[in-house]
Amino acid sequence: MRSPERAYAPSNWKDSRRNTQSVVIVLAIIAALVLGGVFAWTHRSVTVSVDGTHRSYTIGTTVQQVFDEEKPGVTAGNLVSVNGNLITEGGGDPYSATVDGKAISPSKAKERGIKGGEDIAFSNGADKTEDYDETTVDVAPKLLMDGNAGAVSYISQWGKAGKATVRTGKVSGETAQTVTTPAQDCVVTVKNITPADGRKLVALTFDDGPSDYTERYLQILKEHGAVATFFCLGSKVEASPDLAKEIVDSGCQIASHSYSHPQLTSLDAAGVQSELSTSFADISNATSVQTTAFRPPYGAFNQETWLKTQGLATVSVIWNMDSRDWARPGADAIVSNSCDGIQPGYIILMHDGGGNRDQDLEALPQIIDRLKSEGYTFVTISDLLASDSSIPSEVASCDETMPSDAVWPTEVG
Ligand SMILES: [Zn+2]
Repeated sequence: MRSPERAYAPSNWKDSRRNTQSVVIVLAIIAALVLGGVFAWTHRSVTVSVDGTHRSYTIGTTVQQVFDEEKPGVTAGNLVSVNGNLITEGGGDPYSATVDGKAISPSKAKERGIKGGEDIAFSNGADKTEDYDETTVDVAPKLLMDGNAGAVSYISQWGKAGKATVRTGKVSGETAQTVTTPAQDCVVTVKNITPADGRKLVALTFDDGPSDYTERYLQILKEHGAVATFFCLGSKVEASPDLAKEIVDSGCQIASHSYSHPQLTSLDAAGVQSELSTSFADISNATSVQTTAFRPPYGAFNQETWLKTQGLATVSVIWNMDSRDWARPGADAIVSNSCDGIQPGYIILMHDGGGNRDQDLEALPQIIDRLKSEGYTFVTISDLLASDSSIPSEVASCDETMPSDAVWPTEVG
């Protein structure tokens, strides 16, 4: 006889296997239902607004796919050069898009999936700039004039370089410059001198020497308690360095009147620089005075000529009162030409060189006595410049040189 255990064992085993199969099937059904639900949930349809119209899309559809599906009538941007010139029509962004009012780039639009409820809008594509190489360059300052009339011109601001980026288009070959740090322009101020507090100061000036007359001028100045400024020619200083030294020793000021008396406005840059630097060196050799002040022959000097100086000179001095002594009109006329209508801060033009100066010798004591009686004091050009509070002291010193960190301009502005 088979034991009951043995008799029932196969039957129990069969039941057990059947039960296991049922559980698997149930689990599979549950799994299928869950997976199906998840699939349905992740692939459900949502509604978005596209250019104001409600549209249904599967959740997760990208903005790019919406664009491809909707084909809104927008125009692609162009590919343009670094200067904005057309290279390829339609070669820019295919469209512009916003999601809920926020701009989204075409490349981001390929990743941005919709969640439902968004407000999507498409418009014309933006232009795209070609690829470019970029370098940084210095920007030269310009030379500007501040004021256009007056007896003195001086460098009131030195120039400094700026920076710019230069983009060179890889397709067009065009270059485009953008200034990132503006240059500081060099400024030449032109004005008449206005002594502070209305002080009655004037300056006598003598051109074209030194000459055989210079010592007699110095004697008259000394006897009448006056000083003056001598604008000397480098060539004459070379010939008579002792006279140049006497000018300085007497308490008068010496400055340049060029080397050979050319019209500086008609010279090239090298010529202007040579006339200035040679005469400055001659004065320095004869007197040890380091001047950078000058009077241009014929008063001829302009913005272009300043540009040609390369910063060698800092102060140009012309005049307010022309004695016209060069025309030898007689001593009385020289006196009245020098004194009638004079005002504080004025500069009187006379000559100690260039010919017969006997009329000047007669007129000079009268000019000094008359203006002194009118309350005027005679000062050098340096002291006259220093009396004007708007003129920097380094300008008034008449020996300023270009600072090492300054950059001379390459063009007028
Ligand atoms: Zn002259």
